[in-house]
Formats: sequence, structure tokens, C-alpha cells
Amino acid sequence: MSGHRLVVAIDGPAASGKSSTAQWVARELGLLHADSGALYRAATAARLRRNGPADDWSEDSVLEAANRTCTIAPSGTTFRCLLDGEEAEEELRGEAVTAAVSRVARMPGVRQWVDAQLRELAKHHDLVVDGRDIGTAVFPDATLKIFLVADPWERARRRLVQRLERAPSDAEIAAETEQLVRRDVMDSTQTVKAVDAVLIDSTYLTQREQVERIVALARAVQGGP
Ligand code: C5P
Repeated sequence: MSGHRLVVAIDGPAASGKSSTAQWVARELGLLHADSGALYRAATAARLRRNGPADDWSEDSVLEAANRTCTIAPSGTTFRCLLDGEEAEEELRGEAVTAAVSRVARMPGVRQWVDAQLRELAKHHDLVVDGRDIGTAVFPDATLKIFLVADPWERARRRLVQRLERAPSDAEIAAETEQLVRRDVMDSTQTVKAVDAVLIDSTYLTQREQVERIVALARAVQGGP
């Protein structure tokens, strides 16, 4: 007995398009979406809200802040992490949180905190969950596992187009690529492809094509058309 309902796990490195792809796949399949990175970001933001960046960053202080500050709430077909009861998407995606989150995500107690929340959600909902270790550590018996990769330059370019809403220059892409690759190194221990995950390289795929592949795989696993 796995103790959870249907789970589609989508793992991969930063800016591989996991979250937006996972949301779209969830809509197509009539499932709910949960973004595990948002939980690590919420724990980090909670700690920043409580004591400021310069203080003690012990695991206990992060967990204490997270337990006091973060709640998970459904929002359409996705789950959002609220901070002190309010939506805080900009804060979660902001520079201060992004700079500190990899360090927080390496704390075993924080990983247990995130895993417990995801497993609780999966007891009650059919889910598409995206992250780094969903198919290996969190749901090793997930219904379907996808590992999504893309060339770092292309990941950086996509992220900049989203952020700037214009075509970035090569110099801008190069600077972003450098940061992304640095985060890949920081996150490398927890970013693991399960042996039974299907690898999808999205460098030359549109998002629609990626989504269609994952939806087709999910239907095949479920025995549908
Ligand atoms: O995916 P996103 O960039 O929002 O994730 C933020 C950070 O959370 C990652 O850089 C990584 O350090 C951590 N993370 C993790 N395991 C996951 C998801 C995210 O360690 N399953």
C-alpha cells in the first residue's frame, strides 16, 4: 500500500519549466498541482520574515518560523503556500529567497517537513507534484515519473523572456546561465532522476509538446486511450 492516490512526479533542474508544465498537465488530466519548490521557498521566506537574513540560520529556527508562518491552501487547480495567511508569490520568487533557498533545502528537517506536507496532500487528492526528488525520495512509487531537462542556455533564455517580457541579449542570457548553473551545482545532490523516470529534454520542444507527451504517458499508465 502506497498510502497515496494517483501521483504524477515531475522532477528536474531549476528553470526547466517544471511548475508551469506540471500545472498545465494537472489541468489536462483533471488533477491538482503541488509545487514542492514553493514549500522550500516558503520555509526560507518565513525565516527571513521572522529574524532577518543575518541571524542564526539553524534548522530549528527555520522549522519554527515555517510552522508559525506557512500554510498551504488550494487556489484553482494548484496549491499555494500562504505566509501569515496571505498570498506572497512575489516574495517567494524574489531574490532574497532565491539566494537562500538551496541552503535551507539541504537541511534534513526541512526536507522532512516538506515531504510530510506533500504526502498529506496526496492522501486526499490526485496530484501532479513538481520538484527535484519527488520520484525518488517523496513518492518512490508514483504512478508516473518524468525527469525534465533542457540546455542551460535555453533555460536561462526562457526565464528571462518570462521576467523581462522581451527578447534578452546574449550578454543577459550568459549572466543568467552562469547563475543557473551555479544553482544546479548547489542543488545537485537532491536533483535525482529515478531509474524508472521518463527523461524529456525540452530544449527543442514547445511547452505544448512537452505537456502532450506527459499527458499521453499518464493516460497510457492509467490504461486509457
Ligand atoms: O523549483 P524552485 O526553483 O522553486 O525550487 C527552489 C529551491 O528549492 C531549489 O533551488 C532547491 O534548492 C529546492 N528544492 C529541493 N527539492 C525539491 C524542490 C525544490 O531541494 N523537491
